[in-house]
Amino acid sequence: MNRGEMLSRVLSEREPWDMVIVGGGATGVGVALDAAARGYDVLLLEQADFGKGTSSRSTKLVHGGVRYLEQGNISLVMEALKERGLLRQNAPHLVSDLAFVVPNYEWWEAPFYGVGLKVYNLLAGRYGFGGSEILSREETLERLPTIKTEGLRGGVVYYDGQFDDARLLINMVATAAEQGAALLNYAPVTAFTRDAEGFVDGVVARDLESGQELRAGAKVVINAAGPFCDAVRRLAQPDATPLIAPSQGIHLVFDGSFLPAGAAIMVPHTSDGRVMFAIPWHGHTMVGTTDTPIEEASLEPLPLEEEIEFVLETAGRYLRKPITRADVLSVFVGVRPLVRSGDTRNSSALSRDHTIHIDASGLLTITGGKWTT
Ligand SMILES: Cc1cc2nc3c(=O)[nH]c(=O)nc-3n(C[C@H](O)[C@H](O)[C@H](O)COP(=O)(O)OP(=O)(O)OC[C@H]3O[C@@H](n4cnc5c(N)ncnc54)[C@H](O)[C@@H]3O)c2cc1C
Repeated sequence: MNRGEMLSRVLSEREPWDMVIVGGGATGVGVALDAAARGYDVLLLEQADFGKGTSSRSTKLVHGGVRYLEQGNISLVMEALKERGLLRQNAPHLVSDLAFVVPNYEWWEAPFYGVGLKVYNLLAGRYGFGGSEILSREETLERLPTIKTEGLRGGVVYYDGQFDDARLLINMVATAAEQGAALLNYAPVTAFTRDAEGFVDGVVARDLESGQELRAGAKVVINAAGPFCDAVRRLAQPDATPLIAPSQGIHLVFDGSFLPAGAAIMVPHTSDGRVMFAIPWHGHTMVGTTDTPIEEASLEPLPLEEEIEFVLETAGRYLRKPITRADVLSVFVGVRPLVRSGDTRNSSALSRDHTIHIDASGLLTITGGKWTT
């Protein structure tokens, strides 16, 4: 990858590209990789670093989503479990199996989660990651030596995938480039050009290194700007009705001593009915996440005080060692591009499936979905 070369390709191209993609996250780079591998001429423009948006701020799980199973969204779970298997096959250096333990404190939890997680594994078919098992109290403590013991009855272990989101993204960028795509970072798209009939036929961007204006003609422009996709749509149509309801999620990072045995904790129901994970991550422990509707996405979203309190409080319920604000080493925040439904107050109930929308201007927007899918 050489940015100077990419830039000169953009400046010297006289023909319209088959497609110009706005946004270098999982969605945009996924589209670029797929299209370039099929022989299309592709240009992708990213306003900051590749993966600067949501795609480097995820929980880093390649998963079917146990919660979507509970919500009865079987097709999404099956699709994601298949992609999980393909990802491990295609990128074994970045995707690995991880044991998750659901600690049980009530009598009904072992049969309930035991059966649910069996079904989860069965839905993966030949892409399965290893069977789930009901654990005794002693076996649970072996895997989670730091868990609260008071009232602990046992646990259920199941296997899911963990990946390095930012690195996978960079590997996908490099592979798309290898397949002939041009991908340029630090090049925000600022406007669209139109043909005689008013259809979008190209983009205007700025090279942030030199300040130079860039123009690129396109047979189709694909808006893959994630949580910023409505702002990009407004460049073409200022009164466009919003497609997404942005919602942010935070993760707190602690030192590795909170999960010394290498297994992750999965809490299937927090006090506000969501799922929370504590996961070993590069020698540290990562805990999250939240789901807080916000007005507008920003490139450097900040955690809310109540989100930090909520994560600390939930972790404190399960961990024996007291966990306080002073233990927090870092925090990172991502914004979900959730596709709108009527009621946007409860964002954890909004669809995690992706949506493709074509505006009257011909601008094609792809948004929503998960890293895994
Ligand atoms: C807290 C959290 C945890 C998650 N955990 C998981 C998980 O464990 N597993 C999973 O599968 N999924 C997870 N997800 C979902 C997943 O991360 C997202 O679905 C995915 O990263 C979205 O990718 P994207 O490319 O659509 O958006 P983004 O990654 O945000 O990419 C959009 C890009 O567009 C760029 N852009 C915006 N405007 C312009 C412009 N005008 N010109 C040029 N570029 C522009 C932005 O800079 C950005 O890089 C999680 C999401 C969140 C928020």
